[in-house]
Amino acid sequence: MVSKGITVLGSSGSIGVSTLDVLARHPERFHVFALTAHTHVERLLAQCLQFRPRYAVMVEPRAAELLASALRDAGSETEVLAGVDALSMVASHPQTDYVMAAIVGAAGLLPSLAAARAGKRVLLANKESLVMSGQLFMDAVREHSAVLLPIDSEHNAVFQCLPRDGKDGVEKILLTASGGPFRTWSQEALAHITPEQAVAHPNWSMGQKISVDSATLMNKGLEVIEACWLFDLPAERVQVVVHPQSTIHSMVSYNDGSVLAQLGNPDMRTPIAYGLGWPERLVSGVAPLDLFATARLDFEQPDTERFPCLALAYEAHTRGGYATIALNAANEEAVKAFLNREIAFTAIPHIVKQVMQMASEGTPMNVEDIIVQDGESRRHSLSFIKNKKMH
Ligand code: NAD
Ligand code: MG
Repeated sequence: MVSKGITVLGSSGSIGVSTLDVLARHPERFHVFALTAHTHVERLLAQCLQFRPRYAVMVEPRAAELLASALRDAGSETEVLAGVDALSMVASHPQTDYVMAAIVGAAGLLPSLAAARAGKRVLLANKESLVMSGQLFMDAVREHSAVLLPIDSEHNAVFQCLPRDGKDGVEKILLTASGGPFRTWSQEALAHITPEQAVAHPNWSMGQKISVDSATLMNKGLEVIEACWLFDLPAERVQVVVHPQSTIHSMVSYNDGSVLAQLGNPDMRTPIAYGLGWPERLVSGVAPLDLFATARLDFEQPDTERFPCLALAYEAHTRGGYATIALNAANEEAVKAFLNREIAFTAIPHIVKQVMQMASEGTPMNVEDIIVQDGESRRHSLSFIKNKKMH
């Protein structure tokens, strides 16, 4: 078996760490070609010493210098590169076969797209890049014969439940949502949520941004848009089902009345291993599901009154690409402001809604226009955030 070279974009994050955990279980199948991080020098240093990649990229130049000198001192041969362009370079390099796209937010767009344009197997965790560039991204995958495999647990579950080829008999995708930590909270109580409460997810351990997104249900909104692009379905055929136990990761409903589901413990190493091994299955380190310990599977309708972000995402997708870029940009800025204690939790959907209203109609067909809309929406967001400041 020829060992596959892997680039892990965002290796210092939650998905990055889980990816390396799975890779370490299969040293005969995979070798790490490149690791990347924004600023986390110590973690990247430890990862480089363990996995010995050819390249390590630190976006921050000062962090790159620190990492390079620490690696030199340790006698490592890993070459350190700095800056955003290096992310796309390692993602499209001829010596990488698979690219794990696990940078958080819009920062992941260019390197994820570079991997698709270079015809790689793209393991997509970075849902924001697909929300921003939907049509363009899917066109790049087709034109360059890339293999796009979803890592987001819901989409990975759907992928496992779909027919191998095509969509024969598929009526609907049922995307499950845990409902987040505030599922049962009153509207009044939501206004006083702290960042600490919001990042403590009941079932999954994840990065800060996606944890807040799970609490507002924006994560599910982004995932609806992600599902529409990945599986080429209109939004009416992607239904969100709140399932607080997070045991069923999603389902596919067929025209004969069958519903296929994928179940498992909430651990991202399962979808990561599936993406790495597909069409084979690989040991992931995840414990088998104990159904007797689970005991119950509950289902509810999502409440878009208390959690308006989900409805905003459906609306944005119906309007087009510019609106989904605005939705994503406003959400990223609002979540950052919430985590910095500048705005209330309940201000997040208000800011997203206002910024979305200012977006152009239609869909951008090149990266430059996507970046312009993203920048403009962030500027609008910052002015709305200023008006909503709590202090
Ligand atoms: P995280 O915050 O733990 O890690 C983010 C990674 O991105 C880090 O390696 C960080 O260094 C890097 N990064 C951050 N800003 C950057 C920038 N400006 N330029 C370059 N690199 C940058 O996030 P995470 O929870 O691992 O999530 C990563 C992506 O995967 C997100 O898009 C998220 O929605 C998606 N995802 C995560 C989970 C999960 O369980 N954590 C599940 C499904 C999907
Ligand atoms: Mg998910």
